Amino acid sequence: MRLAARHGHLTTAFALALATVLAAAVTFATGPSVRAQDSSAEPAARAEANALSENVRVDACASDPSRLGLSRIVEIDSTDGPQFGANHGATTDFLKDGEVVLTFDDGPLRHNTRNVLKALADHCTKATFFMVGRMAAADPAMVKEVAEAGHSVGSHTWSHKNLRANSFAKGEQDFEMGVSAVNRALGKEATPFFRFPYLGDNRQIGEHLKTRHMSAWWVDVDSKDYLTRDPNVMVRRVMSTLAVKRKGIILMHDIQRSTAGGIRMLLDQLHDKGFKVVHIVPKATVQSLAEYDSIVAKSFSTKAAAAAANPLADRSIVWTAPKHATTDETAAAQTNVRPAKASPQDAAPAKAPAKSKPQPVEILPWQPQPFGY
Ligand SMILES: [Zn+2]
Repeated sequence: MRLAARHGHLTTAFALALATVLAAAVTFATGPSVRAQDSSAEPAARAEANALSENVRVDACASDPSRLGLSRIVEIDSTDGPQFGANHGATTDFLKDGEVVLTFDDGPLRHNTRNVLKALADHCTKATFFMVGRMAAADPAMVKEVAEAGHSVGSHTWSHKNLRANSFAKGEQDFEMGVSAVNRALGKEATPFFRFPYLGDNRQIGEHLKTRHMSAWWVDVDSKDYLTRDPNVMVRRVMSTLAVKRKGIILMHDIQRSTAGGIRMLLDQLHDKGFKVVHIVPKATVQSLAEYDSIVAKSFSTKAAAAAANPLADRSIVWTAPKHATTDETAAAQTNVRPAKASPQDAAPAKAPAKSKPQPVEILPWQPQPFGY
């Protein structure tokens, strides 16, 4: 399959002069406000450029035809709690044939996330990261690094609770602590983009999103990267799904070895097949709530103190598998994941997991076991 010629790239002039280039306004009749901007933008909208440019950084290389780059930047208005993606009853699908949005969940995990960032940078393209609060608290510098590379950073709860399987009160706390943690790690307000852990929907949280002016992001193309260590398998799954669907929001996990090792190959193939990357950026940022900020602040302090006292400590995060999880992300969170450390040795493969405990899914050998396991 070869899609249309790559005429949709941003022009160099546009990329260089983003702050003065305009967004063509596109409003869906039944959906949220979505502004798309590309090289055909009209000067008439020039006055709106400043607001958009605050949240966007595009490099000149984004228009280099030898790289994947970017074809469009779409500004998302999350005010009314819209939901995006073709599945799960989402309200809006703004992607055209051949367009994809790159998304990475569950990080950051320093070594693997860095691999992903490097591949994205070499292809001069942008993605959206849905970070887990506890992971962000364990390595706030890595959260900043992702944002400073020009990617959108959203949240994915504090501890990866399945919001479908928990009470609203518990779910709301995990949701809000996730927002607080990402904002705290960034040192500023994050994008108001959210992804449900395990892709487990919860109607009340969906309503809550509206009050928080945040959007939910579902998945069209699931890499299922947690099921394999082989980058080739991950890439084949994404490309074969895209061969049928031809567009969509792609879900990967920057904590997973198959994605960290395969992302460059995937970007190469997307480029070779003529797919185009759309970068989603927020119209406004999300404010965290003070009561949750204070809870999260204690956790940040504890983790920072522990790291200072013993930089090589084997700190661990264990996500408990929900009893009734039914979605594709289930397996990802049933594995044990250790937060990133400053040491590059963090990437060293861990021992194979003990086999005494039956597990419903494979525990990847690279993933360190919990402290004291
Ligand atoms: Zn997740």
